[in-house]
Amino acid sequence: MKISSNFDGGNIEVIEAENPQNIRLRIRKDNQSDFFQWFYFRMTGAKGQLCALSIEEVADAAYPEGWENYQAVASYDRENWFRVSTVYKNGTLTIQHVPETDCVYYAYFAPYSMERHHDLIARCARHEQVALHSIGETVDGQDMDLLTIGESDSNKKVIWIIARQHPGETMAEWFMEGFLERLLDDTDPVSRELLKKCVFYAVPNMNPDGSRRGHLRTNAVGRNLNREWHDPSLDHSPEVFYVRGKMDETGMDLVLDVHGDEALPYNFIACFEGIPDINESQLDLAYDFQKELARLNPDFQTEKGYPKSAPGTADLSMATNQLAFRYNAVAMTLEMPFKDTVETPYPESGWSPERAQKLGRSTLDALWAIIDRL
Ligand SMILES: [Zn+2]
Repeated sequence: MKISSNFDGGNIEVIEAENPQNIRLRIRKDNQSDFFQWFYFRMTGAKGQLCALSIEEVADAAYPEGWENYQAVASYDRENWFRVSTVYKNGTLTIQHVPETDCVYYAYFAPYSMERHHDLIARCARHEQVALHSIGETVDGQDMDLLTIGESDSNKKVIWIIARQHPGETMAEWFMEGFLERLLDDTDPVSRELLKKCVFYAVPNMNPDGSRRGHLRTNAVGRNLNREWHDPSLDHSPEVFYVRGKMDETGMDLVLDVHGDEALPYNFIACFEGIPDINESQLDLAYDFQKELARLNPDFQTEKGYPKSAPGTADLSMATNQLAFRYNAVAMTLEMPFKDTVETPYPESGWSPERAQKLGRSTLDALWAIIDRL
């Protein structure tokens, strides 16, 4: 029997793996950072055996409340991910499972590998309305991929969508996959009409280094990219530096920043209530977008979410606040759960790639509903 994680997005350290009933593991911290919570590893040679895999010291993870009512995911083929029995007790997360084959993967959420990212980018680039630009390199030397969808034209609205600043929030890139596939479906009337009115700029993965390294929250040098938007640097946060530089060229009417939340079992949107000189009509439009999305997709709701910042107290290092402030844009942070949705649960999978993709698709309907008011 062996546990390993030396692959794209992998993360685990083995303390002891002799006895299947007492496998002791630990999550590696993000490089140059104290954040940890993402895990993804393979177990070989344990077919048909009852295994207890204990991940220790997880009370010190970035969001310990994320372990309450949480079930890990597993897969035999890295395509289909299902939930497995998981108990959080005394600071240890224990997965109990009898693998059906000698090759089983366990993860915090269905992984979205850099290989899959490259497949997505290549597929999108084949569409005639898409231009692909590598706008810079990460610290590890990976490309920052920007997709421009539709011809730019000064009469068109400018829509930005970015995802996965926090690399462990893989549901954000699954969401992007659904969003982009629908937007590039020539038979979809909403997408066709939106592309007459808008040009889209999409960054499906804001943090390739953290993604490949198996990080929860930071880039290769321990920076939380969603705290860099006021003053990004080429040395420490080139990902934000290049994307914000491009945004300065295009400006924007609306931006969606896609994330996952470890603790809250809801889909929700956070806005920019606390920025200086707030434009109330832009905020109303953001609220109307949310109401439309909740009407269109029951997995989304508007009751639960983060507390709103008091006037003038917004953290301008965060993308949504900085972009609303900088461009007078309708800026929104969309959060999805790692667990499941409380009102519309689906216990077989919990929140999943398929559901994230469908929410990404619904987002285009919500945009269509408000587009003429942008
Ligand atoms: Zn996040």
